[in-house]
Amino acid sequence: MLFAAHIITAYPHMFPGPLGESLSGRALADGLWQLQTHDLRNFGHGKHQNIDDTPAGGGAGMVLRADVAAGALDNVTDNVKGADKLPVILPSPRGQLFSQEMARDWAEADGLIFLCNRFEGVDERFIEARRPLEVSLGDYVLGGGELAAMAMLEAVLRLLPGVMGKAESGTDESFSAANDGLLEYPHYTRPQEWEGRAIPDIVTGGDHEKLAAWRRAEAEALTQKRRPDLWDKLAGKREDEKN
Ligand code: SAH
Repeated sequence: MLFAAHIITAYPHMFPGPLGESLSGRALADGLWQLQTHDLRNFGHGKHQNIDDTPAGGGAGMVLRADVAAGALDNVTDNVKGADKLPVILPSPRGQLFSQEMARDWAEADGLIFLCNRFEGVDERFIEARRPLEVSLGDYVLGGGELAAMAMLEAVLRLLPGVMGKAESGTDESFSAANDGLLEYPHYTRPQEWEGRAIPDIVTGGDHEKLAAWRRAEAEALTQKRRPDLWDKLAGKREDEKN
């Protein structure tokens, strides 16, 4: 089944943007996935098709109206065949942190619906009533959900069958199972010597077993040093598997 990405946004012209280039762009042109944008403004109110209003109780900024968000989302889930079964994602700094594991799960779906907000927030009653998955790209604040949706979507698209060639295989990279969830080992390419630095002998020596052990050790050392949180999590997993 063709993977369908639905983007609800007040800025539909931002898409496909970077997703129209490189791997995901070629895959889009080849029909391996499809993109449909849905303009939030079409569901706005009044002469100016307003989609936001001032926050109840006061405070900075504006809030996306619940009826507008629901109108736009229901239009997709009610009118696009199969869309009522798709995960609905609301990019939000207060959401669950996005991860490679999520990307792998979502790549199994028939598509995704992203609701991109650009205000202080969305009326909480919309979230209660429609239960979108609030997902954060990281602990920082962006100006809107569009770039977050693009980043998440790109992570998913490259995992779809046929999108990545064998040369760019995703089975042995950072966070992948084949790599035991570790960060990836160092890479080298020609020239053999650059600015007085040679490629380590073990990399070019031709002993595949030794190289695999070296790469493994490098990946472990890198993960331990840079991401102690990830290392501890993986150590916990290894313990669980033993028991
Ligand atoms: N007032 C909010 C931030 C609003 S930023 C707060 O303090 O939590 C405007 C919009 O950008 C958000 O509603 C969300 O859709 C998007 N956004 C900002 N940062 C994000 C992040 N780290 N991950 C995902 N979406 C984000």
